[in-house]
Amino acid sequence: MKKHLNITVSLMLIILCTVFASACDYGEASQHRGEIYALDTLITVTAYGEKGDEGIAAAKSEIRRLEKLLSVTDENSDIFRINASKGEAVEVSSETYELIEKAISISVLTEGKFEPTVFPIVKLWGFTDKNYRVPEEIEIKNALSNVNCENITLLGENRVKVPEGTQLDLGAVAKGYIGDMSAIAMEKAGVESGIISLGGNVKLMGENPQNDSWNVGVNHPEDGVAFCKVKAEEGSIVTSGAYQRNFVFQGVTYHHIINPETGYPAESDIESVTVVTQDGSLADGLSTALYVGGSEYAAELRKSQSDFEYIILTKNNELIISQALKGKTELLEGYENIKITYR
Ligand code: AMP
Ligand code: MG
Repeated sequence: MKKHLNITVSLMLIILCTVFASACDYGEASQHRGEIYALDTLITVTAYGEKGDEGIAAAKSEIRRLEKLLSVTDENSDIFRINASKGEAVEVSSETYELIEKAISISVLTEGKFEPTVFPIVKLWGFTDKNYRVPEEIEIKNALSNVNCENITLLGENRVKVPEGTQLDLGAVAKGYIGDMSAIAMEKAGVESGIISLGGNVKLMGENPQNDSWNVGVNHPEDGVAFCKVKAEEGSIVTSGAYQRNFVFQGVTYHHIINPETGYPAESDIESVTVVTQDGSLADGLSTALYVGGSEYAAELRKSQSDFEYIILTKNNELIISQALKGKTELLEGYENIKITYR
């Protein structure tokens, strides 16, 4: 089984950059770093300035707080309670309510390629508890009958209702959302500039203390090192790919991004897709949806929706990058011969 800690690698470049910069000149902006294992991944928090340590503590407790609300496995979480509700309305926190609302809007935007009710399918494949297996076709067919975003009713006043059988999984937007919320917590603690890196999700906060853009490395799915870098401003950069979680059974690799139409791991021309946008949950949800839809779909969606950019590495080892990132992306040493198309 091929499995990489995407977070560590995709952020390596940004870490290298910031370490290098601190050795040069940050003026007053000292660099502080913290780590926390949460959301099934190693999360790195970097904060600049004299309130850095307070900021990191605030981000860590925000991550823990939201993980408890959004986990599919913690029996006290909002999501667990919704999934066990047997058709009854459930009162949740305002954050969970807000994220479900957001998830529904991303699902509508992507015509169901991002589908927050995919949990019964994800469970069947064992991606929730790592008891991986290939389900029978009939199991998938039965589980699919409960997968539909329209089954979610938002009743107002933080009350949510789903019919029995329908279950939520916000795993494809949670890290993006938690990145944004942790940045707000850091800001309240007096930090203006920092980086929160959560398993393939990077949240950039404020300005790089060198008053330059941030440079974020995009991980190569096979090699486990950054192969390209992108210049970015405050906002989120999120990568999705089959390499992030998968298992092999009888020589076939099965991965964790499900095509909600079929109930099987999505098969598109994409090896990995990175989305750059302001809003973390949108970046996260879109990276999953674009992986499902493929590169043609990404270009189509980008035509009608101007608030995100993308970097796609295809299975043919070509790079397709949205026009607005021209001049902001660069291949790194050893990868110069990857063909780039701007679309
Ligand atoms: P990401 O790593 O952000 O692409 O999200 C993948 C995770 O979201 C999986 O581990 C599942 O828990 C869940 N998931 C899988 N397929 C989908 C889908 N099509 N829409 C929404 N969530 C999904
Ligand atoms: Mg995602």
